[in-house]
Amino acid sequence: MEAARDYAPPERAQLLCRVCGEPGRSLFSKRGYRFAACDACGCRFVADDVPGLVYDEGYFDGNSFGGYPAYLRDRELIVENFARRVRWLAPHARGRRLLDVGAAYGLLLEAARDHGFEATGLEPASACVAWARRELGVAMVEATVEDAAIEPGSFDVVTLMDVIEHLVDPSVALRNIRRWLRPDGLLVIETGDFEALLARVCGRGWYYYDPPQHLTYFSRASLTSFLECHGFTAPCAVGHLGRSVSLRNFAHQLGRSLGGGLLGNACRGLAASRLGTVRFDVPDRGNVVAVAARVAPEA
Ligand SMILES: [Zn+2]
Repeated sequence: MEAARDYAPPERAQLLCRVCGEPGRSLFSKRGYRFAACDACGCRFVADDVPGLVYDEGYFDGNSFGGYPAYLRDRELIVENFARRVRWLAPHARGRRLLDVGAAYGLLLEAARDHGFEATGLEPASACVAWARRELGVAMVEATVEDAAIEPGSFDVVTLMDVIEHLVDPSVALRNIRRWLRPDGLLVIETGDFEALLARVCGRGWYYYDPPQHLTYFSRASLTSFLECHGFTAPCAVGHLGRSVSLRNFAHQLGRSLGGGLLGNACRGLAASRLGTVRFDVPDRGNVVAVAARVAPEA
């Protein structure tokens, strides 16, 4: 047993913050992953290495860990949710060229196009890219945010909706996005807020603490300082936009949080039943935050 311990990496090295690289302090474990908090930048993160989670079409139709039970069957509802976000960000945009990072099947592009934007999606999953091009006729770049080759200054708006928490190294994404935006271009990030009431009440049970798919966690304050560290201004808008969800998606996510017991199985049964199409509105009491900030002038 002593020999096995020799193979464990040094704990300090594993607790380096995904956002700023400073050592973090241990918080708790969930599903065998250690969570840590960084006092330097205010973020929380999954400290352990994660197996490369594959974001392919299986992620969107219930065939991988995490993800969605049937993304495209909720298409109408998802487009409505994105339309709400597009209406919210539109008054702050100083141009119509919009890039949606982690665009999945391009449904935000559909909503943005209806609002007069010239929208492009960035998405690594080939099947999603092909579907969006074929069914929506939208422009898609098939690449990750870390690897995409995009001309500097070619967008007025970049959106990252429910994406930043998935990234292994969010700073690489921010550096790239800042370059792709024109001077005073607008970045919109929507993600969970671990200081919100729901997160505090639920503790480690908060559904957003969801390794291995969610790796980095922000509060409103740490998201603001993250943006400012990467060459963006203080937020020009902060919103709690709420969303409509299908019972199918809600029960699927809840079932996953509850695990394999009786309640978890009941949720999965509900998700698969005819009741799954029932939809309802989830008002946002601060659980999820949307922040819009501009590229700061060069110092
Ligand atoms: Zn940090």
